[in-house]
Amino acid sequence: MMQPRRDFLKMALGVSAAPGLLAQTRTSSGGERAGTRLPILSTGSKIKSIETFTSGSLSIVRVRTDSGQEGYGQIAPFNADISATVLHRMVAPLALGQDPAALDAISDQCVEANYKFPWSFVCRALAGLDTALWDLHGKTTGKSVCELLGGKPRPFPIYGSSMRRDIKPVDEAARLARLRDENGYRAFKIRVGKVCGHDEDQWPGRTEELVPTVRKAIGNDVALLADGNSCYTAPKAIEVGKMLGQNKVCHFEEPCPYWELEWTAQVATAINVPVAGGEQDNDLAQWRRMIAMHAVDVVQPDICYLGGMTQALRVADMAAKASLPCVPHSANLSMVTVFTLHMQGAVQNAGPYVEFSIEPTNWTDNLFEPALKVADGKVPIPSGPGWGVTINKSWLAKAERQVTEKA
Ligand SMILES: [Mg+2]
Repeated sequence: MMQPRRDFLKMALGVSAAPGLLAQTRTSSGGERAGTRLPILSTGSKIKSIETFTSGSLSIVRVRTDSGQEGYGQIAPFNADISATVLHRMVAPLALGQDPAALDAISDQCVEANYKFPWSFVCRALAGLDTALWDLHGKTTGKSVCELLGGKPRPFPIYGSSMRRDIKPVDEAARLARLRDENGYRAFKIRVGKVCGHDEDQWPGRTEELVPTVRKAIGNDVALLADGNSCYTAPKAIEVGKMLGQNKVCHFEEPCPYWELEWTAQVATAINVPVAGGEQDNDLAQWRRMIAMHAVDVVQPDICYLGGMTQALRVADMAAKASLPCVPHSANLSMVTVFTLHMQGAVQNAGPYVEFSIEPTNWTDNLFEPALKVADGKVPIPSGPGWGVTINKSWLAKAERQVTEKA
């Protein structure tokens, strides 16, 4: 059963099932939580200060060393003020004084020292520190993070990701067709069912109308992905999944409540459309189970929710060993999409596209420059040192600053 599904996946996703670069070059002496070998060398310096700049849904982190190096990262968006407090109280004290190259050790210590507060906010906060340290290493060596990871900055294909369920099928179809024509998008994701919907649709009949209407409008040459956002029980997800298959959908994301791995695995076994998931998951043991039981065919770590690039690479590594493609979750145009572009430009089990929100927002505007721009269905991976973008001084100036530093 499994091999035909894997063959279908390779065909549908256009990726090599060969073990990735990371799988080849990194050791695994102690499972996924230890023994990975990152391409980072000791700088001989120590982490001296960790600052957060918080405004609205966002919090930017600046880390500095005792030898004057610095890097910028971002905490996971939404309730970022809470995550910033967690960073200063529960993460920063573990990292101050450490070599900035100790990325694996810092990740493990943050999870283990906070083991009574599992995952969510600790990982959201850790992501800010970890991504700032990757930027620091890039700037220190004059390389982009993509290059540090063995990749090369280049225009990378994206899929236009709709976040809307309040939109009529005919209007959704029209705007996606327009984006295809104006910006060359070659893939889109639409929303089916209702968020945590217990099998209910946003309104009766919306999903059954939406999928064929969009398919007809964008044509058969454009890839179509669908996201259930934890809507369905397994039987209903299988029914919807078959309809998606009839409309040549190539990715069915989070069909069931994401914590119901057995339900999700049932769906993945029953339908031909590849099942994707994992955006909410930040426990690496849960990731190991998810992959081992073939609950998903496509892994979707979110670099910010998961605790940063270091943790996301571990997930990509696990997936590479199981010959599964990695298509991270990056559902807004804050720094998470920049991080994801760098990662996908390097990992060899990267799926064919990066998620790119098509929704106009104001809360990510003016955060960094140069802004990400779509042309010919691709966005360039920023090519300067570190993340290759600069957090705008005007944005930092209006944000609330907090600092934890070594005495
Ligand atoms: Mg999703």
